[in-house]
Amino acid sequence: MTTEIYDLAIIGGGPTGLAAAIYAARASLRTVVLERFLPGGMVSNTMTVENYPGIPEISGAELGERFHEHAVKYGAEIRIAGVSSIIPGKPFHLTLEDGSTLEARSVLLATGAHARHLDVPGEMEYAGMGVSYCAVCDGWAFRDKDVVVLGGGDSAVEESLYLARLARSVTIVHRRDALRAQKIIQERALAHPKISFRWNSILTEIVGVEEAGMKHVTSVRVLDLLTETESEIPASGVFIYVGMVPNTAFLHDLVALDKEGFVIADSAFSTSIPGIYAAGDVRSGSWRQIIIATAEGAQAVREIDCYLGE
Ligand code: NAP
Repeated sequence: MTTEIYDLAIIGGGPTGLAAAIYAARASLRTVVLERFLPGGMVSNTMTVENYPGIPEISGAELGERFHEHAVKYGAEIRIAGVSSIIPGKPFHLTLEDGSTLEARSVLLATGAHARHLDVPGEMEYAGMGVSYCAVCDGWAFRDKDVVVLGGGDSAVEESLYLARLARSVTIVHRRDALRAQKIIQERALAHPKISFRWNSILTEIVGVEEAGMKHVTSVRVLDLLTETESEIPASGVFIYVGMVPNTAFLHDLVALDKEGFVIADSAFSTSIPGIYAAGDVRSGSWRQIIIATAEGAQAVREIDCYLGE
């Protein structure tokens, strides 16, 4: 068991954490980024990013990798490790999931959020066997098949456009009669010959069968909220995009959270515990965009640098 003291421990290696690492390393703060999976974050699961200034079009995986390389180039240490607890103090004491520990004079929470489950019958039963939360990861399995996408936000519409390249048909089921996604991608989806819509409708069940010991999805049941009638849409795949849940379980209520579990931070990105900061998707009120995530990471480091200097 080793204990090392860093100026800054950044928890989360997505755009926020890696941008923070670039700024911190360049400010000569001894910095470690702790990332449970692969550096890059959720953007790595996005097919195409078209709204990061200076880069009109890039795959999410490549952008995530560029953030990673950039942070490493300027000396940030990246460790593949989940954090299981933080004990406040001077310094903070972090225990990692592998049992090792480290100490840091400040902590930046940049753990982001993950896809929310819908909690309908069949969702868990067919997860990974037709039910997915990531079109870029799983879409290939639905080439020339019919798929259903649930939701009306940026994720649902963007991923529907991606799926339409592969699938025979994409049906977007949305609980209202208007999408909340950005207009530019709405227009593309509304005009797409392979994409159709079930407005004012919710998904009530995911139906499937087991054949030769393998389960797979065959259809979804949909309730039209206006007519109160139920119908079935044949589909091999169901992609669920109904919002995000913050990755804050490991905090065990250490810092103040809002009612949805996002971390409450002030305009200096400081949480309810001095020395612990929060930025990007995990921060309550943050606009979930890559440009905002990176900007918040950089701004938080400026505040952390002042805190460390005091
Ligand atoms: P979101 O914007 O919260 O949209 C979730 C969608 O799911 C909404 O249309 C919502 O309907 C619907 N919904 C929520 N709960 C539901 C339920 N129980 N049953 C049926 N439908 C339900 O989530 P998101 O699309 O994952 O986006 C998350 C954040 O990331 C957003 O801030 C988004 O702008 C950002 N993002 C940005 C980009 C980009 O800039 N290219 C790409 C992806 C995501 P209502 O509309 O009726 O509320």
